[in-house]
Amino acid sequence: MGNTVPEKIFEMKDWLVEVRRTIHMHPELMYEEEKTAQLVSECLEKFGLEVRKGVAKTGVVGLLRGAREGKTIAIRADMDALPVEEANQVPYASKIKGKMHACGHDAHTAILLGVAKFFSSRRDQLHGNIKWIFQPAEEGGAGGKLMTEEEVLENPTVDAIFGAHVFPDLSIGKIGIHEREGLAATDRIIIKLIGKGGHGAYPHLSRDPILAAGHLITQIHSIVSRNINPLDSAVISLGKISGGTAFNIIPDAVEIIGTVRSLTPQIREQLKEKLEQISQGVARSFGLDCQFVFDYGYPALVNDPQMSHLVASACGKGIGKENVEFIRPSMGGEDFAYYLEKVPGSFFRLGCRNEKKGMIHPFHNSHFDLDEDVLPFGVEMFVRIIDEFLALGMMK
Ligand SMILES: [Zn+2]
Ligand SMILES: [Zn+2]
Repeated sequence: MGNTVPEKIFEMKDWLVEVRRTIHMHPELMYEEEKTAQLVSECLEKFGLEVRKGVAKTGVVGLLRGAREGKTIAIRADMDALPVEEANQVPYASKIKGKMHACGHDAHTAILLGVAKFFSSRRDQLHGNIKWIFQPAEEGGAGGKLMTEEEVLENPTVDAIFGAHVFPDLSIGKIGIHEREGLAATDRIIIKLIGKGGHGAYPHLSRDPILAAGHLITQIHSIVSRNINPLDSAVISLGKISGGTAFNIIPDAVEIIGTVRSLTPQIREQLKEKLEQISQGVARSFGLDCQFVFDYGYPALVNDPQMSHLVASACGKGIGKENVEFIRPSMGGEDFAYYLEKVPGSFFRLGCRNEKKGMIHPFHNSHFDLDEDVLPFGVEMFVRIIDEFLALGMMK
């Protein structure tokens, strides 16, 4: 034992588990990741990296300059937890009421620290630089956008970036790769139908926004089926409708809120245009006014195919081609998309499902947990990608 690189990484497992569990027990919501950031920066400083703190409020960036010239590769983890009450009865369960690492960002942070620990003693073998990006607020706070605005991809300029998300749909020991589009743009619509309230017995004296909302909802669900090429992807889900106060009152207004998802900028604009046209049109046909807001969220995450193939080839050398799967995109969202708008890279999935251990629950669920074998596994995948991208030749 202890000779090959994967063995060296596997020897870190106890330490990785301890780091992951420490973070897991102390979850922090978006832009509050103070303690997590402190743990991260203390580790990076101990490993001898150049450390930049307080980036995008609570983000941390580490840099290891190689002994020799070369390209700069960045890897990224997210650090935020969710407002979920943990239901798992485990010794490392969340100690903070109502907050939980239910999306595996604790594992992402631990994995990247493992990569830092690995390379910290190998600076002499390094041509080029490695940058570690630990960002806040992936869960809806666009921390990744803020990080790019605070120039984490500069000084030195990043040539390529890689990120991963643990993935409970894929068994431990496997990785999933999106060749191009990986995740969707996540936009929000807020539609307000404004009519004229009155007594339910005298509808002719009112303008009923509830009836109009009924028609509008049905119409909206024809947008994807009748306007989008069946070979493209789009989804519109209406999640909230509010209006009215009592059984015999026609209200003044109804508000409908929903999510709109797409994988390309063209479809995104097409959905926006059609939604506005139908909302205004239906409102007009009932003699109502309509306020339409299209609130842009994360853009679609689009990988660089060349970088995706680099991930496949680098990781496949370690785990075998049979454990590398090219998978279809998901209509979820991910703010890693902001980095990929600036530099080529690839975002991939680390299998963390283990039915024998009961690790089968989906993200954001109060029972979510992961097989901790994913920690050294994730470190190895990133080490292999870095090795391949910088052509270091460590992994034979
Ligand atoms: Zn999440
Ligand atoms: Zn996540």
